[in-house]
Amino acid sequence: MTNLQISPPAPVQTALDTLCNAGYEAYIVGGCVRDALRGTAPHDWDCTTNAKPDEICACFRDFHVIETGLQHGTVTVVIGHMPIEITTYRIDGVYADHRRPDTVTFTDSLTDDLARRDFTVNAMAYHPDRGLIDPYHGADDLHTKIIRCVGSPRDRFDEDGLRILRAMRFASVLDFTIEEGTANAVHAQKTLLHHISAERIDTELTKLLCGIGAEHVLTDFADVLFTVLPELEPMHGFDQCNPHHDYDVYAHTLKTVAACPPEPVLRWAALLHDSGKPHTFTTDEHGGHFYGHAVVSKEIAGRALKAMKCDRRRYDRVLLLVDQHDLVMNGTEKQLKRIVRKLGDEAAEQLLLLHKADVTAQAACHRAQRIEESDRLLAMLEKLREEDACMSLKQLAVTGGDLMSLGIPQGKAVGEMLNALLEAVIDGALPNERAALLDYVKSCL
Ligand code: ATP
Ligand code: MG
Repeated sequence: MTNLQISPPAPVQTALDTLCNAGYEAYIVGGCVRDALRGTAPHDWDCTTNAKPDEICACFRDFHVIETGLQHGTVTVVIGHMPIEITTYRIDGVYADHRRPDTVTFTDSLTDDLARRDFTVNAMAYHPDRGLIDPYHGADDLHTKIIRCVGSPRDRFDEDGLRILRAMRFASVLDFTIEEGTANAVHAQKTLLHHISAERIDTELTKLLCGIGAEHVLTDFADVLFTVLPELEPMHGFDQCNPHHDYDVYAHTLKTVAACPPEPVLRWAALLHDSGKPHTFTTDEHGGHFYGHAVVSKEIAGRALKAMKCDRRRYDRVLLLVDQHDLVMNGTEKQLKRIVRKLGDEAAEQLLLLHKADVTAQAACHRAQRIEESDRLLAMLEKLREEDACMSLKQLAVTGGDLMSLGIPQGKAVGEMLNALLEAVIDGALPNERAALLDYVKSCL
């Protein structure tokens, strides 16, 4: 273990001191302890205490208190602009619906509270004066990079099916291995995920996809992915019979995911980009082909993301990238400008990044050259941005108002002329200069 001394930020220390000075026990717990012990900065700090919710509220009456989930014993206290979740030690009752406990009981035992947590690495508590409280040996598992359920994996997954996906998520994000007993239960009980809401699955799956170990986790637990996204199963083991590809469609997909920057839109687009391939497969003397697969991938991506109830922004952008992913790039500035014009600057960059990841996951014989071409396009985009090259209507040196003052009637005609000017500028037929553009417009009248 690298560092057993954790220094919580001042507001968190204030929260601990406030509770301890009032005679209660208080610890930081869960993800923040895990991350601090790994030497990564925790993104939020949760506390646990034997104070009951009303006692927590009384302790923090001078602070802004949000009653997040009083019946589950959770209160959020804002100290120095930092929201800190404080939860009363609790034991979860029966989980009749495989999702949430029917009841929770407050307890005075920290060990009991830690027992209800999902994995040993998430079941550690710490107080600067009392040190690490680790009854389930999470520090050892952290050291050997293992995700292991607290207690019987079968029972724990039976209580809450989401933990199946959480095990995979933590294995991916932390780049850990799932311990054998836990892994067996993940496979055996995967259908419990049918009890879990789409939104919670989407949250965990998105984190999983953005993790450093996404490829190995989704290789080992492909069956779980197909339980939540059955439309992806046909990719599994689908031989591409094509010299451009060393891998089957699913293996290629996972390599593309791993080669994308760890960002939700890109990783989802990578996961879904070739989902239409098994449905469009044809062969001839040159091998396998997948004509029109991007369109089918887009339909499948739409269904998959709808099933996940993903937000509209991600939905639209992922579908756009999937639809465009096999656009043939000819390496010219003109084409790149057109892509930016059509998709917008951010989506164009994402398309280039997806394209690069896609070629990175293709056959070794062409890989180096194609990656080089992709890098050249990314550098070209950067250069065009630095030059503030005109690639959108708002960058054009004239406005709709200018055209109307030349006598073009308000409405459709103005838009058409602006688009024609932009086309001409992108083609290099006209400079993006006000006088030259206005002269051109006059010559058309
Ligand atoms: P991160 O916030 O970095 O994603 P985390 O470990 O803080 O990771 P959260 O989902 O924020 O994860 O949960 C906080 C803690 O609550 C976990 O560390 C774990 O102890 C406990 N926990 C969360 N969800 C569950 C669950 N479904 N079953 C059991 N314990 C859980
Ligand atoms: Mg957290």
